[in-house]
Amino acid sequence: MTAFAHPPRWLISSVRPRPVWPREVTVPRSAAAVTRSPAAPVIDVQEVHKTYRIGDISVHALRGVSLRVPRGEYVAIMGSSGSGKSTLMNILGCLDGPTAGTYRLDGLDVRDLDEDTLADIRGRFIGCVFQSFNLVPRTRALANVELPMSYAGVSRTVRRERALAALGAVGLGDRVDHIPAELSGGQQQRVAIARALVTDPALILADEPTGNLDSASTEEVLGTLERLSDEGRTIVLITHEDEVARHARRVIRLRDGAILSDQRTQTTRGLA
Ligand code: ADP
Ligand code: MG
Repeated sequence: MTAFAHPPRWLISSVRPRPVWPREVTVPRSAAAVTRSPAAPVIDVQEVHKTYRIGDISVHALRGVSLRVPRGEYVAIMGSSGSGKSTLMNILGCLDGPTAGTYRLDGLDVRDLDEDTLADIRGRFIGCVFQSFNLVPRTRALANVELPMSYAGVSRTVRRERALAALGAVGLGDRVDHIPAELSGGQQQRVAIARALVTDPALILADEPTGNLDSASTEEVLGTLERLSDEGRTIVLITHEDEVARHARRVIRLRDGAILSDQRTQTTRGLA
């Protein structure tokens, strides 16, 4: 249930932002040896381990996690504090690499890539949504959403067009000139979702996106994510709340750095 009006579906799909880089063309040079298949799952994690070392102490935060997420799936990753959610999120988001095991993102093996290449991959493949919105203050919604495209060699006109389309897609077509302080928490998070969408990423990665929101705003944001999922977006949402995870089509539970369970919440509708 959503408490706001959305533009009609045909409008969203007709103005859907194009990828900033054509995916087939620019595979990073250091990853050029990698063969990529368009049918590959968006996420393919195999036997991933992560060990943090602080001096003499090592913490085994992930212990052999394997996970495939096909295109169009909406997955919630759950677990209590310390179970490894953030560690897994950092790996899925290419912010950190595994100690052992492999991760293919949209068919691309991201092992052993340098920082610049990883940053490039993040920009092209992943749209992140955080608990704290991370919007630029005193900057209107439109400019916030245009931001991920500002280094990508996209013309001003195209940037504007895509940002407006993304804001329309989250139901904020009438709030494009508002600054964050003039928006509710739910609206601010929807601006952040529009910003994550605007580069047409393969994956939307949301870390506790409703953690700072009241229940009405939580519904609003979950409604937006659900609608994006219905449109075929691939979404991974990290949460410790059952109420939030219930909205996903699949729920994966972590305990002590390993997958405890992996269950579908409904029929497999929406899967490509
Ligand atoms: P969650 O997000 O589910 O609370 P984390 O992934 O943050 O779990 O943490 C998993 C385990 O790894 C915890 O024992 C935590 O203390 C440890 N850990 C997380 N990040 C670091 C780090 N940067 N350095 C050392 N230990 C860490
Ligand atoms: Mg965490």
